Amino acid sequence: MRIVVDADKCQGHNRCFALAPELFDVDDYGTAIALNDGEVPAELEEKARLAAANCPEFAITLED
Ligand code: SF4
Repeated sequence: MRIVVDADKCQGHNRCFALAPELFDVDDYGTAIALNDGEVPAELEEKARLAAANCPEFAITLED
């Protein structure tokens, strides 16, 4: 699984970072960044889904 954050949609609520700090960071502008080039370890896939489902801007896409 791979996380892609659409920086144009991201409004910097930081919910993703709060829910899954192992997978996300926030840049100087408050925009979310997927850590590790977006690669999601198998044990964190559930957290990735949780973060994507809780993004109010639908800015997080999960690719297989
Ligand atoms: S929850 Fe969505 S809008 Fe908020 S920082 Fe994360 S990607 Fe951006």
